[in-house]
Amino acid sequence: MAVNRMPLIAGNWKMNLDHLQTVAFIQKLHWSLRDGGHTEGTVDVAVFPPFTDLRTAQTLIDADKIPFALGGQDLSAHDSGAYTGEVSGAFLAKLDCRYVIIGHSERRQYHSETDEVVGSKVQAALRHGLVPVICVGETAEDLEEFGASAVPVSQLNVALESVPADAEIVVAYEPVWAIGSGQAATPDQAQDVCAKLREVVAAKLGADAAARTRILYGGSVKAANIASFMREPDVDGALVGGASLVVDEFSSIIRYQK
Ligand code: PGA
Repeated sequence: MAVNRMPLIAGNWKMNLDHLQTVAFIQKLHWSLRDGGHTEGTVDVAVFPPFTDLRTAQTLIDADKIPFALGGQDLSAHDSGAYTGEVSGAFLAKLDCRYVIIGHSERRQYHSETDEVVGSKVQAALRHGLVPVICVGETAEDLEEFGASAVPVSQLNVALESVPADAEIVVAYEPVWAIGSGQAATPDQAQDVCAKLREVVAAKLGADAAARTRILYGGSVKAANIASFMREPDVDGALVGGASLVVDEFSSIIRYQK
């Protein structure tokens, strides 16, 4: 089925930029896109600042009518209560977050998030009307042992357990070996795994959901390689880490030409 999925370029800032730097960054990115002749409405742009920046970013985006969506980098599986240090999806929704990243490989690796934890966070996001950006991907060892798609496919299968067919979700395929390494997957590799992930969405949520769900590639995306990924039929955008922290680079990524 031919469908037009709106591309999504998402900037995962990780633990970078404080709330003052956030103001300067968002303003400069907005100006850079305008000066670069970017046409609004051709691609969805989302930024994922640290929690402590969200209120500032929300105020600026709202006041200056900047067409960027906001997202959190994580959320609690719980909605409220005695969970020191956790941030609820309800709080993110109150700050006009539209998205929340779930299951980033850094959370899986440094915070021991299992597929089941990721699944319960997906449920928490949906309870609060947030669009979960579900990250899956294989490590270098997984790649050697099982090939590229086996681990991401199994991670996504668990994450989509009990997700209703009409839920809006985003999937991000991020090979762990490609994150921050400068060594991106090839467009062919990304297409191959993204197509398999779309089959998982079809099997779990149905053909309509598979046709409309955006699947992103992430891992060493930069201005020089974004177009090659965006030419692939099952790659609907990018989750960008390091390059999303450099105004001109991120602006060029958003303005990619196929
Ligand atoms: P990178 O990170 O673009 O710096 O490789 C991507 C990510 O971790 O989402």
